[in-house]
Amino acid sequence: MNIEAKLGLDVFQIDSEQSHILIDQEVCQSRCTIRYCLHVCPADLYELNENGEMTVDYEGCLECGTCYIACREDALEWHYPRAGYGVQYRFG
Ligand code: SF4
Ligand code: SF4
Repeated sequence: MNIEAKLGLDVFQIDSEQSHILIDQEVCQSRCTIRYCLHVCPADLYELNENGEMTVDYEGCLECGTCYIACREDALEWHYPRAGYGVQYRFG
């Protein structure tokens, strides 16, 4: 089973009103060259957009916290989704 199929087993209750991960674009663009977040997210949710801004598809977040730990520039504001939202693991 590949990673996409495994992720497809999870269920996501999406909070369309607010993201639980906020990115400080100024810090990303002025201080970060390695872009750790692009490499560590197990769900591959980080992406640079056409304007050179870092984005995260928080709706598919597995809530592992890896990006928050990996970002050495403290550019991320990270908290768990609001009650009732976020990932539901089907098999532990
Ligand atoms: S690792 Fe942190 S500072 Fe670097 S691009 Fe990602 S969020 Fe921005
Ligand atoms: S918490 Fe984990 S799954 Fe969610 S965006 Fe960060 S690294 Fe990706």
